[in-house]
Amino acid sequence: MRRRGCADGLRSMHLDARLAQRMAALETAALYRHRRATERVEGQTCIDGRPVISFCGNDYLGLADHPRVVEAFKRGADNYGVGSTAAQLVCGYTRAHQQLEEALAEFLGRPRALLFSCGYMANLGVVATLTNRHGYVLEDRLNHASLLDAAQLAGARLRRYAHADVNALAARLEGSDQGEGLIVSDGVFSMDGDLAPLPALCRIARDAGLIFMLDDAHAIGVLGARGRGSIEHHGVDQNDVPVLVGTLGKAIGTFGAFVAGSDALIEALIQYARTYIYTTAPPPALAEATRAALGLLDEEVWRRDALHALVQQFRRGAQALGLPLLPSATPIQPLLIGEAARALAASDALLERGLLVAAIRPPTVPADSARLRITLSARHQPAQIDQLLDALGAIAQLWLPGRGESVGTR
Ligand code: PMP
Repeated sequence: MRRRGCADGLRSMHLDARLAQRMAALETAALYRHRRATERVEGQTCIDGRPVISFCGNDYLGLADHPRVVEAFKRGADNYGVGSTAAQLVCGYTRAHQQLEEALAEFLGRPRALLFSCGYMANLGVVATLTNRHGYVLEDRLNHASLLDAAQLAGARLRRYAHADVNALAARLEGSDQGEGLIVSDGVFSMDGDLAPLPALCRIARDAGLIFMLDDAHAIGVLGARGRGSIEHHGVDQNDVPVLVGTLGKAIGTFGAFVAGSDALIEALIQYARTYIYTTAPPPALAEATRAALGLLDEEVWRRDALHALVQQFRRGAQALGLPLLPSATPIQPLLIGEAARALAASDALLERGLLVAAIRPPTVPADSARLRITLSARHQPAQIDQLLDALGAIAQLWLPGRGESVGTR
């Protein structure tokens, strides 16, 4: 017994030392990730007891704490309890999940929808259902990590094309005609905020006889006159985009994800998507809260209008200050900084001013393109946007090349 204890101790020291060595390299490159625990004190987000205004969540419409969403969640928990107790195919699927799926299908004008625990799992499950190691997946270079991982999990050949470049996609198509092929794109790119050239992507997929899959996580609720996302914004339909993934933890304000499409697609996912089959169903109360949020998307249209007005206000102000904006018309408004250490320093300086803005660094974004990922929400007030702009103007010397002092790593 004693000998085994000693060997275990050594093994764990060895492991810890190896991990520490790897992590020291991250720290040196200003790529170490620190978490900051936020609290809610009397409805206000705080860090270390100090109130902060958050400009980095994805609650674009401010529905995450809407009283009707919270109330539906509580009622759901009173009725069903908290846990779903099992996978959906065992006994975790409730009337609450079913009603939400029906509501999502109707919301998007599609025959059916299927709930997944989260967007990451939905993407893994869908791609692995639609292709395999004999097939291939063409993906925008800046697609979300879960889509890139999905191709790898499916064992398919992953071919990445230059960001939003339809000519590069067309060139990539040549010689990829073996097996089941898929073109996959974000609708709105999560770290850049720009839009995929959806009609052209759909046309290429159709001409080449490939399946097109859209991850519209950052567009649903935000784009289109009725908030139906990229599909509505670009005027494309289910023939163009037979596989639509949406997440619920962003504009819809709750948690989870769904796939919307034909009856055959949904049935196939129920039979084959391992990330659907082998995991506990989301809590029924969450489904109830999400259904309430979905209703609010149509009822409180002012939220989308207010959001777009805030985006305009921010862009006008940032342009006047000469800030390094990326060309985005969505609530994702990144300021490109470049060096990871400078992005961190800018984020820290904003936090000192009570503004929470995450520094996004590689490998989440390509090398030398660290940025402040500023996100706007209908919950912001115009005065808060001015406050952010003032702070950005005051700290601009931290990141403008040649004007900044050298910054350390944290
Ligand atoms: N797709 C995109 C484009 C995303 O931005 C995200 C999350 N940030 C996901 C999928 C994953 O969704 P979830 O957080 O529900 O796992």
